[in-house]
Amino acid sequence: MSKIRSKNTKPELALRKALFARGFRYRVNDIRLPGKPDIVLPKYKTVIFVNGCFWHKHENCKYAYTPKTNTQFWVDKINSNVERDNKNLKELKTMGWNIIVVWECEIRHINKYDIVPLVNEIEATLLVNVP
Ligand SMILES: [Zn+2]
Repeated sequence: MSKIRSKNTKPELALRKALFARGFRYRVNDIRLPGKPDIVLPKYKTVIFVNGCFWHKHENCKYAYTPKTNTQFWVDKINSNVERDNKNLKELKTMGWNIIVVWECEIRHINKYDIVPLVNEIEATLLVNVP
C-alpha cells in the first residue's frame, strides 16, 4: 500500500453501488483505457472518473489546496497530474468515449440518500449516450 491514491475510495464505492442498484453494469479500473477510468460502462460508451480534488486540482475547491511545505514539489506534481488527465481525456474522446468526471467533494460526505441527485444526473447523461 505504498500509494494513497484513490483505489476503491469510499465515495467511489457509494457511487458504484448506486449505479448498480439502478441496473447499470460496469467494469472498474479498466487498464486498457487511457487514464484507467474508475468506472467504465461499455454499453453507454461512457467512462466515469471519480477524481480526488487534491490530486486532480479541482478548480475553486477548498480541498485542492497547495501544501505549505514542499510547495514546489507539490505544485509540480499536481500540475503534471492535471496535464496527464487532460491528455487521457483527449485520447478517450478521440476513441469515442463519453466522459463524466465526478469530484470527490461532491460525494465525500454523502449517505445513500444524498447521492440520488448525482445518480439521477449521471443516469440522464448515460441514457442520452445509449447507441
Ligand atoms: Zn472538489
